[in-house]
Amino acid sequence: MTDWISSPDIAGNDSNWVDNLRPLLLEKQWSVGLKDIVSKLGNGQRLSISDGHILYQHSSLFEVGQLANLVKIARYGKHVFFNSNVHINQTNICVLACKFCAFRRSKKQSDAYELSIENYLEEMSKFSKSIDEVHSVGGLHPDWNVDHYVELISSAKEKFPEISIKALTAVEVKHLSQQSGISFNETLTKLRNAGLDSLPGGGAEILNDSIREIICNGKESSEEYLEIHRQAHALGIPSNCTMLFGTIETINDRLVHMDKLRKLADEYSLFQCFVPYPFLPDSTRLPEAQLATSNEILRTIAVSRLMLDSIPHIKAYRMNIGDEVAELALNFGADDVDGTVRQESIMHLAGADSSLNYDIYHMAKLVTDAGFVPVKRNTIYTEFNIVNIEPPKRVRRLKVIT
Ligand code: SF4
Repeated sequence: MTDWISSPDIAGNDSNWVDNLRPLLLEKQWSVGLKDIVSKLGNGQRLSISDGHILYQHSSLFEVGQLANLVKIARYGKHVFFNSNVHINQTNICVLACKFCAFRRSKKQSDAYELSIENYLEEMSKFSKSIDEVHSVGGLHPDWNVDHYVELISSAKEKFPEISIKALTAVEVKHLSQQSGISFNETLTKLRNAGLDSLPGGGAEILNDSIREIICNGKESSEEYLEIHRQAHALGIPSNCTMLFGTIETINDRLVHMDKLRKLADEYSLFQCFVPYPFLPDSTRLPEAQLATSNEILRTIAVSRLMLDSIPHIKAYRMNIGDEVAELALNFGADDVDGTVRQESIMHLAGADSSLNYDIYHMAKLVTDAGFVPVKRNTIYTEFNIVNIEPPKRVRRLKVIT
């Protein structure tokens, strides 16, 4: 039984969050440097890009985190959300070669793979009893067009009608529209009619075309990323959005990126979650990357929470930042943590060693350890269940000398 429900545009967010926030802000003496920002937040005013710079430069990371945490509490109280999902990457064959990508293969490489529709359904069936979402992104396969995905999605929906399908990043939608000779709108309409429930946010990287030319040449432009999500929202398909940071971008690029996303979110309110994640250096081909420290990850999550007033959820993407930093991030403004996942390739090939194959008890443990109440949500943030089962002890990570 569902504890409470919402609509995709509200996504479980308390619409009175600014009223909730005001008294919380009064409980603390804020540094002089943050006073204008605190005042804007208490009045429900949008922070400017200049405010974002102040937040990035403020000497106390902890204070910026506290501010972001209060905004989160004003929106969701002590609740932190996760879902029960599996990642199935349908192919690693890709016609592009983004510099940061450790996942893609050319068709001729020995470890290139492509899941047939039958193989894909077999993968789903391994997890179907314990998940309510499949998250599928993959390479831009040179031989697959929209009809392939219509068949894949409709077959998956027919066999597992209760499992939501969150699939295809904006660049994959663009590729399918080119392969099929149809518009973005026609492509998205066909996918939605086949049963696609939502779009993941991957591929936004940094919405600055001169940076994109260097790190992901050939991918969709910034405007195409926004336009594909805009058209999805117009068709009633909710989506997430992301930011890859720690490559060659500046702080200003990150803030402009956030500004573009929040302005698009103003149009349809169907960006549900923002997922900021740092570039992982291992095995990839971007030696000039600046790389992000844990402090920078936490600060970027906190700044995202404060800047993105029109995007309800901020995710700590534990596949990328690991469980430990993800737990900390829940006290720095993140209210959502990536789910059970079960299996994942893209981040792990790039060097991530985060735990896979979690169940809801592991997720509950992670959230309660951070001091919050675990809530299992569905893909589009419309159904919520508090998880109040005693979780088992987490596997000890430190070696103990006996
Ligand atoms: S990031 Fe995506 S589009 Fe770029 S090379 Fe990797 S799989 Fe292909």
